[in-house]
Amino acid sequence: MKYNVIHRGDEISIDLMQRFHQLAGQHGLQLDEQSPDIVLSIGGDGTLLHAFHQYSAKLDDVAFVGIHTGRLGFFADWKPDEVEHLARLMHESAASGNLQVVKYPVVEIQITTESGIETHLALNEFTLKGVEVTLVAELHINDEPFETFRGDGICISTPCGSTAYNKSLGGAIVHPSLDAIQIAEIASINNRVYRTLGSPVILPKHHHCDIYPKAHQHVLLAVDHLNVQRSDVISIRCLVAAGRKVRFARFRPFPFWSRVREAFIGYEPK
Ligand code: NAP
Repeated sequence: MKYNVIHRGDEISIDLMQRFHQLAGQHGLQLDEQSPDIVLSIGGDGTLLHAFHQYSAKLDDVAFVGIHTGRLGFFADWKPDEVEHLARLMHESAASGNLQVVKYPVVEIQITTESGIETHLALNEFTLKGVEVTLVAELHINDEPFETFRGDGICISTPCGSTAYNKSLGGAIVHPSLDAIQIAEIASINNRVYRTLGSPVILPKHHHCDIYPKAHQHVLLAVDHLNVQRSDVISIRCLVAAGRKVRFARFRPFPFWSRVREAFIGYEPK
């Protein structure tokens, strides 16, 4: 089995990476940065987002595993003191030729500008915000005008990202086995003059939404942690990516709702 490690760069994560390399050598796992079967993310969810974008062209071949060192680590199943156990399970999985993975949907973002169409994938979400002034944008669902948005911005999240920015916006937590995207408003202006739906909306995989910012408006586009400011955006289409999913290696079960409880409630129910 070939693996690579992406780490957060802090002392604990670097030490753990070195420890994992030692254990990997003992268990016959090969380091391969170009074509790994497993990408081990050591750090927090931010580290896993970096790993996802580094390997986004190889999603069909790569499965991610997270070890969390310190912060929230919603995506990370493994604790630092379990690294030896993880290396052994990876070895056993390689020996049996049986790598268990779960596949979760990602959002595809097609940005049409004056120079053409760019396509991106997000693991957590895409956000569009105004820069300096309020964002004004038309939102269409399945090619039908839905609403005119005025406010700070719009967030389109995946089920995996539903526990991230989307949750802070009052969006629902969506189980990642559902092929869906969620639209959540960021501080919309709602009064007699301006009106938006005001509730998060969940679209199934055969639906899409298009956002048309006011012409030449200076906007901030964010795909997960990656931000860019532009004023040449004509429209942005978001949909569940067809045939592209993120794969997480499952060397042991850690049900999504247990993960949610541990991350946000933090104690075992009585
Ligand atoms: P950051 O500001 O360093 O981290 C944002 C926080 O979100 C961290 O605690 C991170 O966990 C957590 N997080 C990331 N993905 C998550 C997920 N799927 N479920 C639950 N929690 C998650 O930013 P960053 O490291 O560059 O990450 C970018 C992400 O930050 C974006 O994708 C967005 O979802 C999130 N964000 C949230 C808000 C908000 O909630 N108001 C605002 C902007 C951005 P770790 O500590 O383990 O890294």
